[in-house]
Parts: sequence; structure tokens; C-alpha cells
Amino acid sequence: MRMLTFHQLQAITGGTLVQLQPDSPVVHLLTDSRKLSQPAGTLFFAIRGRHNDGHLYLEQLYKQGVRQFVVEDPTDLAGLYPEASILQVQSSLEALQAVAAWHRAQFHVPVLGITGSNGKTIVKEWLAQLLSPEELVVKSPRSYNSQIGVPLSVWQLDTNHTFGIFEAGISQLGEMQKLQQIIRPTFGLFTNIGSAHDEGFKDQNQKVAEKMKLFGEVELLFYCLDHKLIHNAVQASGIPAFTWSRHLPGADLLMLGSTVSGHKTIVNYTFRGEQHSLAIPFTDEASVENALHSLAILLQRGTNLTALQDRMDRLQPVAMRLEMKEAINGCYLIDDTYNNDLAGLSIALDLLASQPKRGRRTLILSDLLESGMPEEKLYSEVAALTKAHQVERLIGIGPTIQAHGSKFGGDTAFYASTAEFLEQFNAGQFRNEMVLVKGARVFGFEKIVQAFQQKVHGTVLEVNLDALVHNLNHYRSKLASGTKLMVMVKAFAYGSGSFEVANLLQFHRVDYLAVAYVDEGVSLREHGITLPIMVMNPSPDSLAKLHQFSLEPEIYSLELLRDFLATAQPDTSYKIHLKLDTGMHRLGFTEEDFDELFDLLARHPQVRVVSTFSHLAGADEALHDDFSKMQLQNFRALAAEVEKRLGYTLLKHILNSAGIVRFPEHQLDMVRLGIGLYGVESTGSEQEALQPVSTLKTTISQIKHIRQGETVGYSRKGIADTDKTIATIAIGYADGYDRRFSNGAGEVLIHGRRAPVIGNVCMDMCMVDVTGIPAAVGDEVTVFGPQLTLVELAQRIGTISYELLTNVSTRVKRIFFSE
Ligand SMILES: *Cc1c(COP(=O)(O)O)cnc(C)c1O
Repeated sequence: MRMLTFHQLQAITGGTLVQLQPDSPVVHLLTDSRKLSQPAGTLFFAIRGRHNDGHLYLEQLYKQGVRQFVVEDPTDLAGLYPEASILQVQSSLEALQAVAAWHRAQFHVPVLGITGSNGKTIVKEWLAQLLSPEELVVKSPRSYNSQIGVPLSVWQLDTNHTFGIFEAGISQLGEMQKLQQIIRPTFGLFTNIGSAHDEGFKDQNQKVAEKMKLFGEVELLFYCLDHKLIHNAVQASGIPAFTWSRHLPGADLLMLGSTVSGHKTIVNYTFRGEQHSLAIPFTDEASVENALHSLAILLQRGTNLTALQDRMDRLQPVAMRLEMKEAINGCYLIDDTYNNDLAGLSIALDLLASQPKRGRRTLILSDLLESGMPEEKLYSEVAALTKAHQVERLIGIGPTIQAHGSKFGGDTAFYASTAEFLEQFNAGQFRNEMVLVKGARVFGFEKIVQAFQQKVHGTVLEVNLDALVHNLNHYRSKLASGTKLMVMVKAFAYGSGSFEVANLLQFHRVDYLAVAYVDEGVSLREHGITLPIMVMNPSPDSLAKLHQFSLEPEIYSLELLRDFLATAQPDTSYKIHLKLDTGMHRLGFTEEDFDELFDLLARHPQVRVVSTFSHLAGADEALHDDFSKMQLQNFRALAAEVEKRLGYTLLKHILNSAGIVRFPEHQLDMVRLGIGLYGVESTGSEQEALQPVSTLKTTISQIKHIRQGETVGYSRKGIADTDKTIATIAIGYADGYDRRFSNGAGEVLIHGRRAPVIGNVCMDMCMVDVTGIPAAVGDEVTVFGPQLTLVELAQRIGTISYELLTNVSTRVKRIFFSE
């Protein structure tokens, strides 16, 4: 059983007991406060990372009922948390790893450790499927392969498992040794080597050598001979190996050739002197390689060939991402088609529970397949999980979950099949709910997802939340310690969706948010955002709401200050931000206003100025550096004057995204990050380091073949100079597709190829030239994204990325995803 007493914990980690309460065993390990599900039996490790600090969540977790903590600094904790057991260690992360290593040491089942640059997660999932008839496999959930993910994965090992598969990912030297000690693989698979995480290593050889450390104790290592660097390293190590190859005769498993037939790849191979063939249900190179890794392992284990083909036929692509989508009646859907096992369900429920509460939490769940557990036990566990994650409404679909319906409390409904649910589906019964849709593939839950998304038209803006966090961390890495971060989420978070972005920023503990208007701030508060929010342009008639929702106004003129003071109660305290004009000449006070400004403020001591700031007019262009430097100097002088006149210190800030990159010595107390967060870099020098966040996609509505000389669209502007194939796509200027893209100025991507706009862009659609591109009705069209950048498109029509991003109309549905 996964259980550990506090005394064992102390012995394993060598920590110091700060306080010990009557011992209750540790059953769950927690490192991310958002993922708390069962407080009783949970041990929280307060881990200090580069961007977050677990110690900041102790109080919240204690309030939620957690009573066991591993911490790095004990300052006065005993007094604060009288009922808790607390262990102090040098490094909470190392303590977590030690606990996992201790746990692992108690099991003697075969364990496969997988590393390599690509394919780890897919091979792991496939192998688990391919082995599952004989083995009860425990595996890393999703891609839990990091210094934290691996210990949490290994902690799942339990007495009923007969086989373990864990993946290990590293980004720098020294990491693999630690993962090896936790996973202790008895078999290994080295998938391949590519350029991911190159920056952490001197060269590829060093990276291979580091990865090889996972296999120090394995009995047998599987790899593909064709990867020369891997082969050399294995040879040098002397580790016994089982190899496969596409063309090198020395391999244990040798391919003789392959042909593509429909959606399958037929491979011919020799193994132990005999020839065989196998149909792999994929045609892309990466999937075929992943399938061949799996084949090698199955053959070596002696799997029967007929069974092998049978199981291979049922392999499915692994859905790596979990999507959050806007849906009917103010609902949000979390759409998770990842393997529907208990670990996958638990992760998806974590995500559901981590969303700020708005309306009900609903779960639509199918039968769980292939768990290897008796149904009784399985559905009791599912019921416990849903209860712990505060699921308020459960819709169970499938005969098995239906049969166990009585195990679930609260609002429940059960259907024998997806079709039965859809027949009775009534959109009016769902309102402002956060709905998790989680079904095994055979249940075809994509139809349920469709029913929840009123299909206005097929145009969506996909927002990559991982990229957003990457960009946030990139800018954070540029800040001096102690410099605060305000993030601009004005204009619907630059078009990306305010509440979802703000929610993520709140979790990642930025210091401030800023919006343009009071209503934007109110909406964030109504969605559970509690961070301080500055409102840049509060109108006099919105001041009452400002107070009601604890929003902090930017005050930029004497008129606005007088209006504000007129609404301020004498016995309530208020926070404001003073904007200074240092050359932008948009909003802000100048020195002439100071006498009157400070006179007014002196008479209203309940109003506190928390910050003063200014904005650079040309931070992104070297051409304006002299002007920027003048602004920076002016601001420092004026801000000093503000502090002197007020008689107290306040936050001073002037840098926007471009400023953070180009004038790092002027970070002062805070910076204001905007466009860079969304993956666009206006100075050009940082674009490489950022990841594009948004992809705008639409679909083809119709294909037409037109003759030379015919014309396309309004005013007959699109003239066919030769015979052409034209696709009408479902996006127009009302969606934010700028009319300036008309007549070839704009291009879109279809099957990775560029198709120029032909004729004028219409309101809801436009036409593109797809001559020579194998395009069909319903095909996906990328309007902008990683391969067709906003920067390029903006240049094509003489505008800036900001405008293209914020113009995407709110009628375009946003889909948020993370891997
Ligand atoms: C929008 C805005 C920013 C952010 O600018 P970016 O160029 O997007 O980084 C900073 N400060 C103020 C006052 C703004 O209005």
C-alpha cells in the first residue's frame, strides 16, 4: 500500500521534526496546492521553484484541512498551524524524491524506463495498451516526467501492479541520476535524440551521456540502431541491448521495407531468422517509429504474433492536450479525450477543481475501460474522487457506470449510451457550469462536445496556455529580484480571453493586473479574480462600481481626481495610481498640475497613492532611444518629486514589454508586461525566445473551379488570370479578418501551404486561391499562428500585431489548451 508514517518520513529524508501530532499515515503526496483533493492523508511538500514558492500556500492548505507538511523554513510554523505535523528539510524537492525512491524499493515488478527527445509519452501509452491484456500496468500520468512528476508517478505503484512504465525527461546536467534512483528501471527504452533542451548541454554527445544515466542498472536496453549517437553511447556503456533498425543488418529486429496502404503502414521485418509483416494503423514517420519501438519490446517479450496484430490494430493516437472551450449558456467545457483511466480522471478533475468557482461543477463520464480493477472497487474509487473534487452534478454514460449509479451522491443522471444522452439533451438544463467531458474513445463523446458548442461558424481562436506561461517566465527571468510585475489584460487580454488569462496569471502570482475600463475589471472580479487590478481609464460615471469591486483607478487629470474625491467616503480607504506624462502626450499629469494635485490629496488622507507611473512612446525602436532616455530621466525626477510631496514611498514603474528588454536598468519597482506575454515581441530581438500563444483557424465552406477571365467577390476585384481553384473560407472582416488583406495582400495556410486571398474580403467570409493545393470542403485553414506569424501579417498591411490580435471578434470562439 502507498502509506508512510511521519517517523518513516523523518528517517527517509533526514529532516528535523518541527512539530509532531498523533501520527496519521500519509497516503497522498501533494506539490501543487490547486490539486488538493483529499486533505486527510495528504502530505504537502512546500517546494521553492524559480517562479513560485510552495510556502506561500501553507495557510490556505491548512485551512482546507491538510495536516502534514514538509517545509524548508520553519519560522514560527508550529504556532501558526497548531494541529499540523511539520518536518523541516534542506530541500523539499529532494525529500519528495527520497520518499518516492523509498517507495519504489519495496516493489520487485519489471519496470521500463523511457527517455529520449520525442515519443516518450506516446510509446508509454501504447505499450500500456499493448501489454494490458496480460499485465496490470502502472504508468506516468500524461507526461509527468520531471523532477517532480517522476516521484509523483512512481508513488502510484501499488501491490496489484505487475508492470511499471515511467518516462524521464531532463533539461540539464545532473537531473537524470536523480530520476534513475527513483524509477530504478529494470528495462530501458531510449527513443531518439533531437534538439529539444539543447541549451542545457554542451553538445548532443553530452545530452546522450546524461540520458544514458537512466539505464545504469537495466538488464536490457531497447533502442533503434539508426540513431548513431545513441548506438555509440550504448556500445561504450556495455549495457546489454535489444536493437531494431530500418537498414542496418546487425539489428535484432530488422525492417525489410514498408508500404503505405490507405491509413496504414505495412512493414516487413525479420526477427530470429523469420520474416513477418505487420500493419501499423498510422502513416506519419513519428508514429511509425513509436510503433516500431513498441514492436521491439513486444517481440522480445515473446508476445504471440496474431495477438500482436490484433492489438496493434486498436492503437489510437494519443490526445495530449486538454482543451477548455466556451460553450452554450455561459458554460465552459473541459474536453479531455486522454486515456480514460483513474489517473487520467484524477488529473482532469484536478484541473476542474482548479478553476475559480462559477456555477456548478459538472462531470460527464463514460465507463472506465481496462482498469484491471474489480468494478465494485473501481466505481467506489471514482465516486470518492468526484466527491473529493466537489463535482456537484454527474452524468454517467455507459452500462457499467449506470449499474453502479447508487455509489454516487448528489445530482446524478445515467444513460446507457451516448446516443441516449443526446436524444434527451436539452441545452436549457446547463447554465454557467464548468463541465468536464471525459469519455473512453468508443463512447464518441466528441458528439457531446459538439452539442455543447453552438456552432456559429467554424472559426476559432486557439490559445496555448503553456506558451503563455513560457512567455511569462521568460520576462520574469529578466527582472531583478524584488521587481514587481503588472500584466496588462486590457482589451480582452489582447484578444486572448480575459478571465482565462487572468486566472492563469493569478495562479502564477503576478503582482498586479491592469485593464482599460471599469467593466473589464468588474468582469474579472465576477469570475473570481482577487489580484489587485488597476483601471487605466475609469469614466466618472463608473466610479461607484470601482469602489464596489475594489478596483484601483489610474488618476491622470485634476478633473478626474475631483470626480473621484467627490465619491470617496471620509472613513474608507482608497488606493489610486498617478499617471505622469513624460512625453507620450496621451494621459497624465505634468509638473504644472503638481501644486493643485498634492493640495487636493493632502486634504483627503484616506486616499493613498500606491504607485506612480509613465509610459514610453517609442521603447521598441532604437531610433527613439534619445527620446526614451529623456522620458526615463524625467520620470525618475518627477516620481522623486511625487514621493517627496506625499511624504511616503510608492511603487514607480515605466517599462512596457519592449522597455523590459531594452532598458533593463530602469525596471524600478515594477514593470508592465503586455504584448510580449501573448508571444509577440515588438523589438524583434526576443522573438526567438517567445512562443506564439494564439492561432486563428477557420474552415473551407465551398470549393469552386473558375475559368480564366472570371472574377471573384464584390466589385469583381478578384480577376482570374488563369483557370483557378478557389476556396471560400468562413472568416470575414466582422470576425476581425482585416479588409486590407483583400486582393492578395493576405495569405492563409491550408495543408501547410500558402493560399493568397483573391478578391475583396467580405463581412463573414472571403475567398482564397487554392490552385494546386489538395483542399476540400471542411478542411482546416490557419489564418495566423506559429507558421504564419502576426508580425508578418501586420507588416503586409502596414499595421502592428497589437491591432490584428485585438481585432479578433468576440463572436470567434476561444479554445484554451495546455499539453
Ligand atoms: C498597453 C500598455 C502597456 C503594455 O504595453 P506593451 O507594448 O503591450 O507591452 C504598458 N503600459 C501602459 C500604460 C499601457 O497602456
